[in-house]
Amino acid sequence: MDFSRRLLAWYARNKRDLPWRGVSDPYAVWISEVMLQQTTVNAVKPYYEKWMGLFPDIRALAAASLPKVLKAWQGLGYYQRARHLREAARILVAERGGCLPDDPAALRALPGFGPYTAAAVSSIAFGRPEPLIEANVRRVLMRVFGIEGRAEASRDKALLKHLAAFYPARRPGDFNQALMELGALVCRPKTPLCLLCPVRTGCAAFASGRQEVIPAPKARTYRRIEAVVGVIERDGRVLIQRRPADGLLGGLWEFPGGKVRLGESRRAALGRELHEELGVGTVQVRPLMTVDHSYTQFRVTLYAFDCALKGEPEADPRRRRWVRLARLRRYPFPSGSAKIVERILERQGMSLCGGAF
Ligand code: SF4
Repeated sequence: MDFSRRLLAWYARNKRDLPWRGVSDPYAVWISEVMLQQTTVNAVKPYYEKWMGLFPDIRALAAASLPKVLKAWQGLGYYQRARHLREAARILVAERGGCLPDDPAALRALPGFGPYTAAAVSSIAFGRPEPLIEANVRRVLMRVFGIEGRAEASRDKALLKHLAAFYPARRPGDFNQALMELGALVCRPKTPLCLLCPVRTGCAAFASGRQEVIPAPKARTYRRIEAVVGVIERDGRVLIQRRPADGLLGGLWEFPGGKVRLGESRRAALGRELHEELGVGTVQVRPLMTVDHSYTQFRVTLYAFDCALKGEPEADPRRRRWVRLARLRRYPFPSGSAKIVERILERQGMSLCGGAF
């Protein structure tokens, strides 16, 4: 089977018209590839367009403040990626004249560049023959070669060896994109459209009728977390605080609060957290809203309460701010907290008005 020829011909006819397709700017390729990791194309489009408007090149990204970068990323999750983009841009400006190198090894030395991103940028932007594996490609290859079991990154080395057998000498960037596009549009996780598939004549899973069971489904286990937060308003301002730079959702802003302990009531948890964090008690607490949000490893239910405090919160200017309601949207929040921000502004009758730091 001439796998690559069929695949490339199919790609030429069926590829989606996306804002980052057909651009040769390595920076644009880099940004789109990072945004597309674990996020759907439709979700990425508005983020990509906004990002390229705010930070049109590596120098603009390097010069931007971290809060502005995190704000532009808000809602995509995996905030470490946004931090790495900015760090890498700053290194590229300082050491490489603001240009990305075409060599995958040099790319991998930059923050946030793993094997996938390095191969994607060097093949798509620079035409280097660098095969890559991501979730779509992994699934396609497991089916084509009839490899049973779960789709896990530990298989990638073996899959790359298989892939080498038909990796084309020409158009490696198109080939990589074609494999990913085939996985997204035809060789879908559920109900693959085998009758429309350009490589079905050489597909072991299709030949044995096992395309629906390869790869085996993932066993998903989520941790469930209950958390409480206090919305504390005074004179048209609300109290927010910044998460530590390292760790989960680092550098984003949130409302004071924390996890509910086993056997603890939500109100008791809120009182304890606000006392621990702000050094004050509460005099009035009213439920505001409940937000459910899923992160990669856990699901959180966030209970937000309107709170009035007894006393003055401990000052911590680097970490904590009273922010005017009209400026609240300018701060980067995790998605769950961002929903609380919208509710607060909605009840004040404030229309949508994003902005930069
Ligand atoms: Fe996937 Fe079906 Fe094509 Fe095989 S024939 S690669 S299972 S879509």
